[in-house]
Amino acid sequence: MAEPLQPQARLDEIVRQIAANMVAEVCSLYVLRSDGVLELYATEGLNPGAVHLAQLRLGEGLVGTIAATARPLNLPEAQKHPAFTYLPETGEEMFNSFLGVPILRAGRTLGVLDVQNKAKRVYRDEELEALETVAMVVAEMIAAGSLEGLSRPGVQLDLTRPVSFRGTALSEGIGLGHVILHEPRVVVTNLFNEDVDSEIERLERSLGYLRISIEDMLARRDIAGEGEHRAVLEAYRMFAHDRGWVRRLEEAIRNGLTAEAAVEKVQSDMRARMMHMTDPYIRERLHDFDDLAHRLLRQLMGRGEGGVMEDGPQDGIIVARSMGAAELLDYRRDRIRGLVLEEGAPTSHVVIVARALGVPVVGQVKGAVSMSENRDEVIIDGDDGGVHLRPPADVQTVFAEKVRFRAKRQEQYRLLRDAPAVTQDGVAVDLLMNAGLMVDLPQLDAAGAAGIGLFRTELQFMIASAMPKVSEQEHLYSAVLDAAGTKPVTFRTLDVGGDKLLPYLHQSPEENPALGYRAIRIALDRPALMRTQLRALLKAAGGRELKIMFPMVTELSEIHRARELIARELRHLTKFGHIMPRRLKLGVMIEVPSLLFQLDELMELVDFVSVGSNDLFQFFSAVDRGNTQIATRFDDLSPPFLRALKSIVQAGERHSVPVTLCGEMAGKPLTAMALLGLGFRSISMTPSAIGPVKAMLVALDAGKLAQAMDQHIASRHRSQTMRELLQGFAEAHAIPY
Ligand code: PEP
Ligand code: MG
Repeated sequence: MAEPLQPQARLDEIVRQIAANMVAEVCSLYVLRSDGVLELYATEGLNPGAVHLAQLRLGEGLVGTIAATARPLNLPEAQKHPAFTYLPETGEEMFNSFLGVPILRAGRTLGVLDVQNKAKRVYRDEELEALETVAMVVAEMIAAGSLEGLSRPGVQLDLTRPVSFRGTALSEGIGLGHVILHEPRVVVTNLFNEDVDSEIERLERSLGYLRISIEDMLARRDIAGEGEHRAVLEAYRMFAHDRGWVRRLEEAIRNGLTAEAAVEKVQSDMRARMMHMTDPYIRERLHDFDDLAHRLLRQLMGRGEGGVMEDGPQDGIIVARSMGAAELLDYRRDRIRGLVLEEGAPTSHVVIVARALGVPVVGQVKGAVSMSENRDEVIIDGDDGGVHLRPPADVQTVFAEKVRFRAKRQEQYRLLRDAPAVTQDGVAVDLLMNAGLMVDLPQLDAAGAAGIGLFRTELQFMIASAMPKVSEQEHLYSAVLDAAGTKPVTFRTLDVGGDKLLPYLHQSPEENPALGYRAIRIALDRPALMRTQLRALLKAAGGRELKIMFPMVTELSEIHRARELIARELRHLTKFGHIMPRRLKLGVMIEVPSLLFQLDELMELVDFVSVGSNDLFQFFSAVDRGNTQIATRFDDLSPPFLRALKSIVQAGERHSVPVTLCGEMAGKPLTAMALLGLGFRSISMTPSAIGPVKAMLVALDAGKLAQAMDQHIASRHRSQTMRELLQGFAEAHAIPY
């Protein structure tokens, strides 16, 4: 197989050698085309004139059945099989026994390899293994593109077929580039072993390490205790000790493969078989097994954890099942054009970080990982949720045009950047931006934000591997204030817990983390953590104005206690002669519905409030913000929620306390428009949203909208939803949304 031959000659040689070695009269190789047809690419024993002419559909005949089921067939009397069909052009009627295997790669069927004999015989397991091993080599040839052009012009192989997916647009923007598979499948290049015993020994050693690493994982405190997640992880342990798996791995090694190639082969077989099952439980298990095989491969090849491709494309579009915020930051921003996730929800933190970086994201793209190969061409449309893998030329042209159109629109936003944010009827609005990292800061001027309405301090903590020191915190905070200059910045104290976990901060397992030990609840119990942060903030703001905001406040006593901590820090700093902030303003986030029923008392205690509509809506509607099954089920523009929001605006007015809203609602022109209609005069959003929101705002008559919305909210008999009303209003008044 290593002989330097042209691709067709090599295929011919492969089938000739197999036939000779297995004493078979026939050996044939079929390749799956993008139109779902299996085309004969090489044969020994059948009519050579049928090569590139004989064809079978997926599911048709024995070969089509193997391709469709991804399972081998071993038949002493092939003609008795219900799927048997006779292809006259190949002249195969006189053969009785048949052995065929799928050509698999990463769980996808790329073709079929078979042998036939006149005599009725049962092929031995070793022969099956041997054939499967050759099929693996052929799979690599196909994937490497070496069979391209062997058939008629215009024939495309299945592996290179263009595929379009429709997912959920999570971060706007269009990206054209090349696939970077996150945690790329380790490519096994060394296929055949030289010494079975030492290879088995290597396998055993790596299995040992694998098992230890799983024990370590299971011993982690943050995943201890009962629950679904526990069952999932226990299954890893079970699989790692699975005798059947180990036996299959050893068998593959005995048949001549290296330990790595054995892992890949066994995994590929299993995946291909299980891919066809629809039971979600089994498919989830398949993911687990995939992960396990990856870990074992990395172990065998001496690689550590999943790595970042340093020599990857300059215009990378990362394709991942899911990803943590920190993992995204492992990649060089200047080489990333987009992120495609099989999971992911609008408020997942990786998505929030991607948005802050201006990286387009599409989530909920099922099957993206297994259909993609590193360096495949891909287009991501973060505006409408499309992902186009290996796009044909006309799709590329459409997108190039779309990018030009977008650039024109961006230019309009840029022109708007320095225009005052005032509505048609003269209402001035503060358009602020959300931030959390140094990388966000240039956006302040680029987007023309009036300030930072929400600085998520936990992001620094989330991407660090150890608790940031007080000096590191102070450094970040003063850099933020320096960048903001005279524009206001609102720092939110650490909002960890729930879905935002710090690997180094041990937390006990919780049944309902969103309702659990998080944010200010932790801060008040562990004052050292909060005091360190407050000290860093106060020092960073020496001589300047400082706005501090507490997340997840549930009752007013928490505000009193937080104030005491601040007072204590102020005393400490005074004692040591530090410069105090010129002015200190304290605010809280309204995220827990309990505050809605004590708004007057709340307003008397604070200098400002900010509505965290992501969490407020989550708790208001009892809908997990990260659960994609229900994340879009309830409408945040429904009258009850809008009434709640309005009551906050009104309470702010009664007490002359400034009110902002900093959840995702502020960043979409239509929902932002609704907020203006409710009376919000300050909203904070992801920087890239400021342009579109401003374009909406300058075209809006806020008074007119308020009237229409009030009527709708008060009405008992509604003929349309609020969303429809807003859309109609925008269209009637030529407001871009
Ligand atoms: C919110 O809950 O709306 C909010 C802005 O905070 P976060 O998304 O960081 O929880
Ligand atoms: Mg929140």
